[in-house]
Amino acid sequence: MTLPQSTKYAVIGAGIHGLSTAFHLAQMLRATGKGSGADIIIVDKTDVAAGASGIACGVVRNNYFQPAMRELMAHSVDIWESDPKAYAYHPVGYMQISPECMHADVASIYAQQKAIGYESVFIEGADDCMKYMKSLFDDWQAQGITSVLHEKRGGYANNVASMRGLAAKAEAEGVRILPGVEVKSFEFGSNSGAVTALNTNQGRIACETVVVGVGPWVNNLWNLLELPKKITVKANGKVCHDVPMWKFWCLEEGTLGVDPDMHKTNDGRFPPVLHVDTDAPLYSDRDGKLITDKLWGIYYKPDFNFGGVQGGASPYKVDQDPDQVAVDPYGPESPEFVVGEDFIEMWCSALAHCQKRFEGKMPLYKREENSGGLGCFTPDNFPVFDVFRENVYVIADSNHGYKMIGVGKLVAQELMGEKSALLEPFRFARFAKGELHPTSHSPFPWS
Ligand SMILES: Cc1cc2nc3c(=O)[nH]c(=O)nc-3n(C[C@H](O)[C@H](O)[C@H](O)COP(=O)(O)OP(=O)(O)OC[C@H]3O[C@@H](n4cnc5c(N)ncnc54)[C@H](O)[C@@H]3O)c2cc1C
Repeated sequence: MTLPQSTKYAVIGAGIHGLSTAFHLAQMLRATGKGSGADIIIVDKTDVAAGASGIACGVVRNNYFQPAMRELMAHSVDIWESDPKAYAYHPVGYMQISPECMHADVASIYAQQKAIGYESVFIEGADDCMKYMKSLFDDWQAQGITSVLHEKRGGYANNVASMRGLAAKAEAEGVRILPGVEVKSFEFGSNSGAVTALNTNQGRIACETVVVGVGPWVNNLWNLLELPKKITVKANGKVCHDVPMWKFWCLEEGTLGVDPDMHKTNDGRFPPVLHVDTDAPLYSDRDGKLITDKLWGIYYKPDFNFGGVQGGASPYKVDQDPDQVAVDPYGPESPEFVVGEDFIEMWCSALAHCQKRFEGKMPLYKREENSGGLGCFTPDNFPVFDVFRENVYVIADSNHGYKMIGVGKLVAQELMGEKSALLEPFRFARFAKGELHPTSHSPFPWS
């Protein structure tokens, strides 16, 4: 590999956002006669799919309480649907199954999905919900459910396969992907403060425009860009100073090593991705002890890629200074941020709570495979898509992002000079202005 000495566009990170931005930008440059993929390089310190995009559960949904998130997700679902084969996308749909304390929130999501033409069905009341769930799965048994939102679009995609599909599209447009190239520092212009070059472990690359799509490593790149570690956030009319810009949560996911075919609907089809939140007490499927009587949630799907029924539960906050959090080695390689026995017992018991077919299956959990991983979140847990230092476009998805394949297309449009209304609610200035996204009653920081 020869490192180019300069490039027009330098994209850092070969995950969903870096790849999608590069691919769409290359297409737009070619279509407008303003250039081509040859004007773009992607550098990655490891390789394509080495970060969160390569270990994501891969769920694609619209179910968001925040209107701006929902509109953005609808745009991304269009892109997943545009080439399901290349993106290894399974359009099985998605269900949000909820207790009474979330009923009103989910009803408003349904109303707004109708308003934007995103197809879904909404069932209300405990009896009707039970009837609906049993019509899909005759062993359904979760108690305390009073609303079911069934999104007919969405589903899931295979994490690494979809990244390879996207990388192939970018390369077919002439984009160069350079693995093993780690950005160690930036050079800034003496007058403007804009970035003029990347200093990497392989040498210097002068550049005109930079795109940062580094997922859980964003705190590191943010520091290299000398952006503020603490910011001012206005929320509910109150101004808070010195709020840390970044914090980490650890995502807990795993796989039950059963035949994926055992989790089908009554009529033999692959089911929608199921997301269940409930305040019904959860008892261990191992010994019957109470695990929790607080609100809890899980999601799951049969997945041949993972070799079983795969899913997760609520993440936990990593209570450390973000600069001290060991992001590397990432994902399953991490000695610290992988799931343990508590997760396994909770998640397997929760599966059994929902469907009888999972009772007694905990011993089949794939303990031999490490799973889980870090996500880096903004102060309000929603993405920041914005330009810093005049020429650095930061795509910081606050760990919402595998499903957001369309963000790269919108970022590419902005790089071509066309502002995106869909990205507007995600500017950095919203923290100081107090234009935060509304929060829901979900136990997850990303709903
Ligand atoms: C366990 C888990 C499950 C998830 N499940 C889902 C899900 O089901 N649905 C969903 O929508 N989202 C999910 N997410 C979130 C989603 O995976 C991320 O939001 C998204 O993948 C981030 O994409 P990205 O392109 O920003 O970063 P990444 O995919 O993390 O890619 C960043 C890349 O940057 C590279 N890099 C880092 N630093 C440097 C540097 N200094 N120089 C060069 N390269 C560098 C890394 O090697 C990496 O390849 C999940 C996350 C986790 C951890």
